[in-house]
Amino acid sequence: SLSDRLTATFRSLRGKGRLSPEDVDTTVREIRRALLEADVALPVVRQFTTAVRERALGEEVSQALNPAQQVVKIVNDELISILGGETRRLRLAKTPPTVIMLAGLQGAGKTTLAGKLARHLRNLNHRPLLVACDLQRPNAVNQLQITGERAGVDVYAPEPGNGVGDPVAVARAGVEHARSQGYDVVVLDTAGRLGIDAEMMQQAADIRTATNPDEILFVLDAMIGQDAVQTAEAFRDGVGFTGVVLTKLDGDARGGAALSVRSVTGQPVMFASTGEKLDDFELFHPDRMASRILDLGDVLTLIEQAERAFDADQAQKMAEKFANDEDFTLEDFMQQLQAVRNMGSIKKMLGMLPGMQQVRQQLEAFDEREFDRIEAMVRSMTPLERRQPRLINGSRRARIAAGCGQSVSAVNDMLERFGQAQKMMRQMRKGLGGGLPGIPGM
Ligand code: GDP
Ligand code: MG
Repeated sequence: SLSDRLTATFRSLRGKGRLSPEDVDTTVREIRRALLEADVALPVVRQFTTAVRERALGEEVSQALNPAQQVVKIVNDELISILGGETRRLRLAKTPPTVIMLAGLQGAGKTTLAGKLARHLRNLNHRPLLVACDLQRPNAVNQLQITGERAGVDVYAPEPGNGVGDPVAVARAGVEHARSQGYDVVVLDTAGRLGIDAEMMQQAADIRTATNPDEILFVLDAMIGQDAVQTAEAFRDGVGFTGVVLTKLDGDARGGAALSVRSVTGQPVMFASTGEKLDDFELFHPDRMASRILDLGDVLTLIEQAERAFDADQAQKMAEKFANDEDFTLEDFMQQLQAVRNMGSIKKMLGMLPGMQQVRQQLEAFDEREFDRIEAMVRSMTPLERRQPRLINGSRRARIAAGCGQSVSAVNDMLERFGQAQKMMRQMRKGLGGGLPGIPGM
């Protein structure tokens, strides 16, 4: 899948000290391949990879992140941007009723969506009316009536045998009915064909002209892969639309449709349909879709937190210290603990970090409350003691213990652990040539 390929690409960057132009090339090539395999349209792939390359080579390199994280962040940002950035909400008419027309191929999920939209609108205290404009298939009207019943909303349908075979007339009458009966939103369910078809397109265009909808939602089956772009273009040119709904996102859709449709048509994806039940429906959030495509939710959370907690000056000082071969002190220890703490629950965080087993074992012995105790102990020390913990002899330990209200053995314990951390830092400096990926300042 797209996620798997991208994850493998990011994994290959792990442990690198910095991104070389060759790394960027390789990564961008891999991303390009992953996107093409996921059926993302070629122009969109080009636009995307160009943006990623420019940013990866540009100097906006965050000190808070290692190269793999940086690339993940850039790819994530660009995915969000290509998916439309902000979530776009329904535009309601100033004078009700708001008219929402659904358009799309047969089987795309329009009728199912009509029920979901109605339920969604009802939850927002609207009074929606569904209008059955699909008179193509024998069962279509009945299907909408059942859907409406499930959603607990009214359905306007032509009387059978009343000579009403004209979907445009039904649409017009439905909107009129809503206006006179006090429904504030009308959802027009329309007919589709299995393929793009001139007659169907004309019918949809005529319904549009007759009802002047506030929103025309193009309903697109996310499973149709490369055909998505062509279909979207046909509907854009034949009917026009103001938003897109992606359906069947619960299937193993490869994400290509979502990425392509917004770029190609310029219209945002507004809703996602994720199943056959009425509740399988959500507002489309570009950031969530991006995480879903990347399948790196936890890593992304960590990146955000790391950036927030990160203090560039502090990292700079730490780097200089390491370069000058100075020792890791209790003050550094405190700062590290603080930084880690700023990132949220330590155990959760360590769970998200690749290659952190060693540190994890060391730190797992601490629980969150222990941070408080350690902090209190270090605060009871003099600056000199913090810088040179070797000085802390028996009587100093007793004084520190009294100062923070803890036992001498607790102080001994802490100093021992600190000694281990210090040793670990020395090893890391030797082993990694400076810089442990993932933890700011390390
Ligand atoms: P229409 O021809 O565009 O009106 O499509 P329908 O609403 O009749 O849906 C066609 C089929 O797709 C039906 O079997 C629906 O139950 C199913 N369907 C619709 N939306 C979804 C979805 O989001 N996920 C899944 N798995 N099935 C869906
Ligand atoms: Mg239908």
